[in-house]
Amino acid sequence: MRIANLSGRLVIVTDDDTAVDVEKASRGRFSSDPQAIYERWRDFRVWASSTDLPAGSAFSPSDLGSPAPAPRQVLAAGLNYRAHADESGFDAPDVLPPVFTKYSSSITGPVTEVRLPKDGHTDWEVELVVVIGEPTHRVTEDDAWSHIAGVTVGQDISERITQLSGPAPQFGLGKSYPGFSPMGPYLVTADALTDADDLELGCSINGEQVQKGRTRDLIFSVPALVSRLSAILPLLPGDVIFTGTPAGVGMGRTPQRWLADGDVLVSHVQGVGELRQTFRA
Ligand code: ZN
Repeated sequence: MRIANLSGRLVIVTDDDTAVDVEKASRGRFSSDPQAIYERWRDFRVWASSTDLPAGSAFSPSDLGSPAPAPRQVLAAGLNYRAHADESGFDAPDVLPPVFTKYSSSITGPVTEVRLPKDGHTDWEVELVVVIGEPTHRVTEDDAWSHIAGVTVGQDISERITQLSGPAPQFGLGKSYPGFSPMGPYLVTADALTDADDLELGCSINGEQVQKGRTRDLIFSVPALVSRLSAILPLLPGDVIFTGTPAGVGMGRTPQRWLADGDVLVSHVQGVGELRQTFRA
């Protein structure tokens, strides 16, 4: 199943890419609020799989918001692909990856314009993003996928000067300028993917491919990450986890490369869809 946030309303996206309004189709049983559905995820799945949905309506991707627009917690893993740890000049993590937050005011939908911070070094990081669908505390790796509502595409856009200057890095701030956490276009459940543990992901700038990887190369797989994070803190329904980026970011290049006025960044995850960000000075 695929769901989306269409102009602020929760919709199911059908196989023919049309949108069915959930509040109307359920006659008010489920709210139109896209973030609220994760509190009732199990009920919603049962209802959606046992209901004959009405015909959907065509829509434009530019009218989509984030499928999780207002999570209570956003966790993000750094250095979770070996080749990206290498290009960043760090050892690969063994017990836990470095974990930081992206503040929720930076979350947007999949098709946006992003203002470049003045005098910044703004970089791209395509990531598989996980949205939690059940209260998740101290779960095993085997149980982890059953606590996940689904996955979506994310960009962990990062301003490297803010991120890395000062006596200790400022990951949370450097990655939370307005528009720096686009997500979408859909939330896709694991059963709708051929292999949820092995998805190609990548991104291109103005048509030139800059990142390409596979989630099977995650150092901490999705289940391992959810299990290890949940060993420390409870993950709440609707929480968002950015799982880390593969190699190919601008900071790791020689010479280094940063996003510039007019650049168009297109990011994809296989079976999920794509994001499109246009950058403006
Ligand atoms: Zn990242």
